[in-house]
Amino acid sequence: MLVLVINCGSSSVKYDLIQTTDEMGVCRGVVERIGAVTSIVKHEPAGRESSKDTKVIANHSEALQEIMNFLLSSDNEIISDISDIKAVGHRVVHGGEMFKDSVLIDDVVKEAIEQAFDLAPLHNPPNLKGIEAAQDRLPDIPHVAVFDTAFHHSLPPHAYLYGIPNRLYRRHKIRRYGFHGTSHYFVSRQYYKLRKKSKSKTNVITCHLGNGASISAIKGGESIDTSMGFTPLSGMVMGTRSGDLDPSILFYIVEKEELQLNSLHAMLNRHSGLLGISGYASDMRDLISEAKNGDRRCQQAIDVFCYQIKKYIGSYMGVMNGCDAVIFTAGIGENSPLVRKKALEQMDHLGIEIDEQKNNELVPGKTERISTDASKVDVMVIPTNEELVIAIDAAKIASASDQSPWV
Ligand code: ADP
Repeated sequence: MLVLVINCGSSSVKYDLIQTTDEMGVCRGVVERIGAVTSIVKHEPAGRESSKDTKVIANHSEALQEIMNFLLSSDNEIISDISDIKAVGHRVVHGGEMFKDSVLIDDVVKEAIEQAFDLAPLHNPPNLKGIEAAQDRLPDIPHVAVFDTAFHHSLPPHAYLYGIPNRLYRRHKIRRYGFHGTSHYFVSRQYYKLRKKSKSKTNVITCHLGNGASISAIKGGESIDTSMGFTPLSGMVMGTRSGDLDPSILFYIVEKEELQLNSLHAMLNRHSGLLGISGYASDMRDLISEAKNGDRRCQQAIDVFCYQIKKYIGSYMGVMNGCDAVIFTAGIGENSPLVRKKALEQMDHLGIEIDEQKNNELVPGKTERISTDASKVDVMVIPTNEELVIAIDAAKIASASDQSPWV
């Protein structure tokens, strides 16, 4: 089935047209800087030259129109008719407590996504805009919402409750939700397949390390703990997000720096993390190259990042009474031998031994085991593919062959 996957940010629409029958991407692209003086439009048809252009694109609806025009243009030979697309899969960041699975979008679902605006003010509003724009352009086919939080619905109360008055959970649903669920789900399933492991007897720790980063403990196929919490701001240090802090620091900063709450929000989301520590960059490649040139703060940012990965892995091994595999994925996890090595050094007591040669020689984009043969724990690098999970879920729900695809 040909499925269009849509991922909308506040000023961007990413898309991926996927043939789910053979799990192949047909065309992907992005419209960025929507609403700015000029927007950037990129299209990458599979196996052909990609294109990049600047255009004036005022809103998400026009971005969708631009994408559909490209896909339908006879010059591009991608699809000949709009009816070739059989379903649309939408990435929705926050499903609150309501959505444990992907769902067919109707008015009730849209209302529930809107109700979760308060929980994810940066993400859910553009996600809903994208849904509405896509429904306008493709009104006759099923639209399916796939939630970043859904895979973590299996967290037990002792992992999702915070140490605050319980009425705040009851009234406002303040609890750990967890994010990057489709990625943690995908790489764990790839691992079971690859190593022929029985899901029910296997424990894995998945490290999704991109600009946003989260680590999950997956026991018997279910997420039982994860580093991100109520919002994607928490957990480990990220590109520009602070990760966990002593909450008292917030009161202290507001007082000492005389900050308004919105400035504090911006500081913690956009000016903290690796960027904040290094004072130089949020991008791991830049930090690594400056650290090599002797920049102490860039080195410290890398050290903090790797130390936090190690701490999560150690604690999740404790929580699960050991694990079968540690899996690295996303931009940093897939591409940085240095981060993988530093995060896992001196963990041989816990049965983790990395093979330095395999780690260093891994070709980006490849799936590989990078632990030594003697290592009790498999260390894996598995490229993530969240779009494929979204496409497959959308296809399953659209064809009503299986209403509960989270196996
Ligand atoms: P996003 O969360 O935006 O999807 P990605 O998964 O694309 O992010 O990851 C982006 C991160 O991956 C950036 O910090 C980037 O520096 C890092 N990265 C990409 N390639 C490399 C590399 N070769 N070495 C180290 N880090 C890399």
